[in-house]
Amino acid sequence: MPRRFIVLIVGALTLNVPAAAQERGPGQLRPRPGTGRQPEFPPPTILDYHPRSTLVVPAHPVPRARFPVVDFHGHPPALTSEEAINRVGAAMDSLNLQVMVNASGSSGDRLIQQIAAVNASRYKDRFVMFTTLNLRDVGPGSGTRIAAQLEADVKAGAVGVGEIGKGFGLSFRKTDGTRLKLDDPELDPVWETAARLKIPVFIHVGDPAEFFQPIDYQNERWLELALFPDRRYQDRSRFPSFEELTAERDRLFARHPRTIWVVAHLGWHANDLARLGRMFDSMPNLYSEVGAVLYDLGRQPRTAREFFIKYQDRLLFGKDSFQPDEYPYYWRVFETNDEYFDYYRDYHAFWKLYGMGLPDSVLQKIYHENARKIVPGIPRGG
Ligand SMILES: [Zn+2]
Repeated sequence: MPRRFIVLIVGALTLNVPAAAQERGPGQLRPRPGTGRQPEFPPPTILDYHPRSTLVVPAHPVPRARFPVVDFHGHPPALTSEEAINRVGAAMDSLNLQVMVNASGSSGDRLIQQIAAVNASRYKDRFVMFTTLNLRDVGPGSGTRIAAQLEADVKAGAVGVGEIGKGFGLSFRKTDGTRLKLDDPELDPVWETAARLKIPVFIHVGDPAEFFQPIDYQNERWLELALFPDRRYQDRSRFPSFEELTAERDRLFARHPRTIWVVAHLGWHANDLARLGRMFDSMPNLYSEVGAVLYDLGRQPRTAREFFIKYQDRLLFGKDSFQPDEYPYYWRVFETNDEYFDYYRDYHAFWKLYGMGLPDSVLQKIYHENARKIVPGIPRGG
């Protein structure tokens, strides 16, 4: 652990870091009345301070989406028993989730087992399965072998690939000990097979850029980095930089223009939508989904609304972790013009959300039409 990080954690615990000892941002340079004055009471920690909002404005909670939704980024519990399927299905009914893509990809027997269990249940038209790829220990010949497995899984009923996890790019090593780069030519046959089979490749690349930055008091994700050791990618001897990784990713997408790519989490560019827009402009084969980045959309409702309208044919709804009570936050941001309401996870964001008030025609594309367009295997009806 870097020494600087330890000092910051200890400082936060003992509440002894004087305000002046912290570097200040550009907006805070001018002296203000009371500069240098110290609070008379012990300041609360980042975990303690939860001011009650006194703002009184209309509020329109949305427990159920206005149109049927395909969750492109589903991670339900394993769909191997009728009980599990019924439990997830009942939660989906109440949220107006019509179809869930099981993006916890499975392969071989496990895939066949889940497809059989779903087909035997009363929710058989409500789930589709993606397959997974084993990208560990890639060496000469791996590409053809993985492509063959992919083809077999699609024959067995998988309708897409993914979610390919962040280990690919961040940490997976090849048999020769080097990091497996996202655009390693060994894997070309895999991506070309997906193109030939006309199935999308759903890929999670990296993590928020702040996870690659120094863990100081200017880092927007300080709390998350302090809570989760496995999200710290500051060590360049072990991890590529955010820019190195995204450059590999963009070369990969550009080299396989016939493959339908769905980059997860808005490519971790929800805080810079213009950058994602440039990717959409230059890569007609690229789509993205909104899982786990609602905090960034809800803090820029006007920019996000314009972006969603402009790229309405390229965006998909996805949630990521399956917590039924969290979906309504997405409905409320997308469907209403509500102001300054709570988000659900303090370590993602310490700020409030605002509604984007998306038009119905755009909502329908993002909620289900675009997913159906790129995954013909999603059941119609309902
Ligand atoms: Zn995921």
